[in-house]
Amino acid sequence: MRRRLVHGAVNESAIHVDVALVGGGVASLWLACLARNRGLSVVVIAPEPLGGEQTMASQGIIHGGAKYSLHGRAKKAAPDHLAAMPSRWRRCLAGNAVGGSGDIDLSGVGVLAEHVELRACTRRAQLRKRAALRLLAGAPNTPVQSGGTRLPDFVVDVDGLIARLVRGIEGCVLPAKVDPEKVRLGDKGVAGIDLAATTVTAERYVFAAGAGNADLAPRLGFGADATMLRALHQAWAVVEHSPPTFAHCLVRAFGTEPDVTVTTHDGGNKTILYLGGHLATTGVARSADDQVAAAKRTLASALPHVDLGSTQFGALHVARAEPRRSAASRVDDAFLATCGNALLCFPVKLSLAPRLGDLFLREVAGLKPVVPTRSDAPSGRSAPQGTRVAARTVVQQGQGAPLELARRPWA
Ligand SMILES: Cc1cc2nc3c(=O)[nH]c(=O)nc-3n(C[C@H](O)[C@H](O)[C@H](O)COP(=O)(O)OP(=O)(O)OC[C@H]3O[C@@H](n4cnc5c(N)ncnc54)[C@H](O)[C@@H]3O)c2cc1C
Repeated sequence: MRRRLVHGAVNESAIHVDVALVGGGVASLWLACLARNRGLSVVVIAPEPLGGEQTMASQGIIHGGAKYSLHGRAKKAAPDHLAAMPSRWRRCLAGNAVGGSGDIDLSGVGVLAEHVELRACTRRAQLRKRAALRLLAGAPNTPVQSGGTRLPDFVVDVDGLIARLVRGIEGCVLPAKVDPEKVRLGDKGVAGIDLAATTVTAERYVFAAGAGNADLAPRLGFGADATMLRALHQAWAVVEHSPPTFAHCLVRAFGTEPDVTVTTHDGGNKTILYLGGHLATTGVARSADDQVAAAKRTLASALPHVDLGSTQFGALHVARAEPRRSAASRVDDAFLATCGNALLCFPVKLSLAPRLGDLFLREVAGLKPVVPTRSDAPSGRSAPQGTRVAARTVVQQGQGAPLELARRPWA
């Protein structure tokens, strides 16, 4: 799970910054870039390889909730902030991020597909598709040659996104996993984070550690049941040739989610069809072999043109980490909760990263940038008493230690 190196890890014995962020996925990296854009000093604490677990396993679909029309309640399930995500991301990608909002300039980050389709792949799924489109009336959707209908959703290049975000925080990364017991508590909430060779203190502490938040949240005072995991069993097919497919595919006559959501990725001289949707949510209890068998059956119906004879398959168990909610409700918004100076964050969806950014900026609005301090004392339990150094020494230059970025599941 390793890929190319970038440079710029922090190497100090004690660090004081405006914002310390725990986690190396899209949430932490996005918020770190936003904070830096505001002139705040940051440090990101995350184990290598950097890039996140869910983030690297995600399908990269920037969606506005259109697929929830399959629930038969599109309007309720796609509130305005979610529906706005595709256009907000397109603005970011075009370099037109709105200042003061949770947007980030993502110019240079690639798009794998300009649109995701809703496809009825069997005759019996036609009615289901038509019912979903009726709910989307008014939203832009265009019939295309494949027989599908284009939704406003598109697919971002997740590798490129992570590389861009990591570049935005060069010199601000401490490659380490935070032990909840080493989060020191004080009057304001968190008093510091002790790592093997460094003590980090900050004005605000952001915990955006995905599944890792489950262990951290109780320590921070958020309660033992603040978080939950939703298991998935993704699959992928390595095919010789396939036209690029980015589609929510409907195979059955009924169902509240796409039978399989297909995205297409570069696999060197092969093509990767990455498979989520109902196949992944209902495949959790299956063994890898059984999940591969289920993937073959589903693909045979959804994409009958794909030659499955020589196709290799793979499968991956991964969980979505989210704030706890009742079984009946669906989380449609990014989540940020505070406890003293600690912020517990979940984007809930990759798409909602700008929305999480909005919530974060509100929390740090009153924070005045301070000059980070550095101490040469060995890391210890006391707050750093270090000499004041120019922000760029700690925050931007680092010591040039290489960082490793995570790979996609099939790579
Ligand atoms: C299979 C799958 C497909 C998805 N597809 C989509 C999609 O198409 N579109 C969409 O909008 N959303 C999608 N999502 C949801 C989206 O991927 C997640 O909401 C988002 O990536 C979460 O990002 P994150 O940074 O919070 O978590 P992660 O990406 O999981 O990152 C967590 C980070 O925290 C680090 N960490 C953990 N514990 C500690 C610790 N103690 N100390 C320091 N660091 C720690 C980890 O190493 C990791 O770097 C998908 C999710 C999954 C699982």
